Amino acid sequence: MNWEPEEIKKKDEESVWHAMRPYNPEGGMVAEKAEGSWVTDIDGKSYLDGMAGLWCVNAGYGRKEIADAAYEQMLKLPFYPLTQSHTPAVQLSAKLDEWLGDGYMYFFSNSGSEANETALKLVRQYFQQIGEGSRYKTISRYRTYHGSTLATMAAGGQTQRKYRYEPLPPGFVHVTPPDPYRKPEGQSYEEYSLACADEIEQAILWEAEESIAAVIMEPIITGGGVLVPHTSYMKRVRDICDRYGVLLISDEVICGFGRTGKRFGFMHADVKPDIVTMAKGITSGYMPLSVTAVRKDMYQAFTGSEAYDHFRHVNTFGGHPAACAAAVKNLEIMEREKLVERSEKKGRELLEALADLEELPYVGQVRGQGLLAGIEFVEDKTTKKTVPEKLVKQILASCKKDGVIVGKTSDIARHHNNVLTLSPPLNIEDKDLQLLITTLKKRIKEAVQPG
Ligand code: PLP
Repeated sequence: MNWEPEEIKKKDEESVWHAMRPYNPEGGMVAEKAEGSWVTDIDGKSYLDGMAGLWCVNAGYGRKEIADAAYEQMLKLPFYPLTQSHTPAVQLSAKLDEWLGDGYMYFFSNSGSEANETALKLVRQYFQQIGEGSRYKTISRYRTYHGSTLATMAAGGQTQRKYRYEPLPPGFVHVTPPDPYRKPEGQSYEEYSLACADEIEQAILWEAEESIAAVIMEPIITGGGVLVPHTSYMKRVRDICDRYGVLLISDEVICGFGRTGKRFGFMHADVKPDIVTMAKGITSGYMPLSVTAVRKDMYQAFTGSEAYDHFRHVNTFGGHPAACAAAVKNLEIMEREKLVERSEKKGRELLEALADLEELPYVGQVRGQGLLAGIEFVEDKTTKKTVPEKLVKQILASCKKDGVIVGKTSDIARHHNNVLTLSPPLNIEDKDLQLLITTLKKRIKEAVQPG
């Protein structure tokens, strides 16, 4: 079909229900092609993509090798379900063993939401089957996002996203997220992070330990404001989980595959989660794919011969052969080009370059790890009262006018939609990273120091 740009835009307005927003010609764009870190829309305008799509195009756009891997797989075997098996899924499992460390079984789905939904469901059945059926609750933190299905939304801690979808499934308990920017005076970063972790222990005790099945956490809360706890936080959470027989689920949907400067976010903390969920960067967004990695000994609980012993969960397209082939190729590229190491190095440069923004009015904190960064805006640096969302939206729009895409927190809770986010492709060229930094700094300065 050969359509004119105006025809496409008209039909888009009429028929495409965009995620998270009504049709808005100012805010949206119709993408046509992309290369490296650049996306071009149907009018021919190019944008430097400081968000790697939706935090996912880790290896960058235009990777012919990934496209070829999917294409060749489609010619050979375009589909077969994982109720049986196929070679690309087996090969991806072997690759994930290398990335994650041995000891996991892999359940394949299509999206991060499904990977987390699978984990939450599986955990409940697991405890029933090992004779601890009273454990069904999951603890999570406010400000987190774990997906858009009813259970993952219930697990998430972003209040505004839940309005008008309630009632949500019961069995989810929320605690304070570690927000080092708001640590009490006199407490060190580490002491504060540990105090937040200890709140999880308190919640376990308040709720009755025999009712708690799991803690689900992103190692760094990403979409909720790029909240980076001290590395001892996750270690303390692991210890607490061990003390009370609670499982630890690490949501690596964004933090995984190099985004934070290690292969997985939990690797900063020297812990081993019981379950690891992943999506997005596993294929660098080239194909939809997600994985729920589960400790092998837990899998044993699902191998009994009674009628309901196995995990009665299926999704037709989970672990699609072409998606698995794309994922294997994507991970090979990341290894070959050392993109995880690059994320660590370039991430440090990015934070150093942005650090002096904190001297400006309204810029409360610049933070991040790897090629993942957040800039928090506050009305008052003493009270840390957040700015209205308007200011952040204005910066976003002016960057976009300059051809640079950055992101922001949204729909978290009324007073926390005040953080600009950056998550560029891990292979972003030095000159593009520089452009991202200079444009952003210029537009922030103009917004907070008008005239
Ligand atoms: N978990 C986290 C931490 C996420 O950021 C997201 C999506 O952004 C999800 C889960 C859900 O992933 P998906 O949008 O692929 O369902």
